[in-house]
Amino acid sequence: MHNIDIELVEMTLDVMKYVINRITKTSPELGQPKKEEELKALVGETITSEGIGGEKAFQLFRDVLVKATVPIDHPRHLAFVPASPTRAAIMFDLVTSASSIHGAYWMEGAGGIFCENEAMHWLVSITGMPKGSFGVFTSGGTAANLSALVAARGQWRQNKENNNKKGIIIASIGAHSSVKAMANVMDAEILLVPSEERMNRTDLEAIYANLPEDQKQRIFAVVATAGTTNAGIIDDLEGVATFCEKENLWFHVDAAYGGGALLADSVRHLFKGIEKANSITIDPHKWLFSPYDCGAVLYKNPEIAKAAHSQEGSYLEIFKDEGAHGFNPSDYQIQLTRRLRGLPLWFSLAMHGVDKYKWAVERGITLANKAGELITTNTHVELVREPSLSCVIFRRIGWTPDDYRNWTYENHRKGFALVTPTKWKKGTDFETVARFCFINPDTTDDDIVAILETMK
Ligand SMILES: *Cc1c(COP(=O)(O)O)cnc(C)c1O
Repeated sequence: MHNIDIELVEMTLDVMKYVINRITKTSPELGQPKKEEELKALVGETITSEGIGGEKAFQLFRDVLVKATVPIDHPRHLAFVPASPTRAAIMFDLVTSASSIHGAYWMEGAGGIFCENEAMHWLVSITGMPKGSFGVFTSGGTAANLSALVAARGQWRQNKENNNKKGIIIASIGAHSSVKAMANVMDAEILLVPSEERMNRTDLEAIYANLPEDQKQRIFAVVATAGTTNAGIIDDLEGVATFCEKENLWFHVDAAYGGGALLADSVRHLFKGIEKANSITIDPHKWLFSPYDCGAVLYKNPEIAKAAHSQEGSYLEIFKDEGAHGFNPSDYQIQLTRRLRGLPLWFSLAMHGVDKYKWAVERGITLANKAGELITTNTHVELVREPSLSCVIFRRIGWTPDDYRNWTYENHRKGFALVTPTKWKKGTDFETVARFCFINPDTTDDDIVAILETMK
């Protein structure tokens, strides 16, 4: 055997051993960040003219660098929005890479895009959007929100009078930071409904009634959130839909985090009205157990998205030729060259079936309710609001913001848990409080009990 081949075999064995080991560990070591200088001192030069060799590079990653990362799927990682990709999805992520498929055009990617589209048909079906609705997988919720809002603005600018006007998006202060950031990217203004509680039709009518006519003309979209990142609150989607219909505005639903809960019979009724959306964002890398990164944008009328996103170029014409007819994912979102990032979701869904997914999502909701009960029965903590979806916001009675911060760092330093504080409105001010977000079905009641114990 040629030397290169031996090295390849060894590297493959090393990689497979690492991967199998990692994905069978239900409680991986909770790593700590280190300063860049410290990491540099530990690993030395890694990019050299001769190369340091695969074995060495892999050893540095495995023994040093990965330990300076936080495994997002740790069962006691309840900060931000954690993740918990299935083993099937992770393994198929490797297959996706190995298959080297260009995911922009059907001509090159047909078989792979077919799989993504199977998963997309299913996603559309759980929203209840009408026939003809369809979408594509994106790098995440941010890219999905941007793609949807660019389509919305394109539609608004079909009226030539709007061509030189700066558009306005209405959202609530509970909307994710990416909505505000993407408005900025688009050079659009954003009008915020001043509440982090459930946004409804009355809120929108109140803000709208006070606007001068020229501003009303500039509004091109309303963004409702189906599962706010901070508290899991689902806006009154039916009410927002009615408002948008009446004022002829694009209705976008950001369900990046909450979208997975469309599968949960226990909370599905809260999403009533989502089927009326012009566009929806769902992140399979949050609550649909896909590895990073995988978002999705769904459109009621994909043709509008195509008009806004389809790229032209003399070297691209062949892809749109008669002989290459098929679905081109690049036509419906901001990216041209793209990974087939819906493939791991497709494989995992095909392998496990939808019922397993329903169970795993319900499990997150059950854990949040259980945490709610435990917080109610313990005297040192109290709920700030009832758990919503898989988010729980609660207070450690008597704690200052510093106490919360020290508690977070201490649990992290001990490698025990990652739980971070957040802020919640109190009167006209904001209070620092604690927050849990459950995604991983392997988290146990004992994990919750043990974390609450660290707050005594
Ligand atoms: C996480 C999140 C986003 C951003 O998604 P990324 O995948 O991080 O880009 C947008 N909206 C909501 C509601 C989110 O929870």
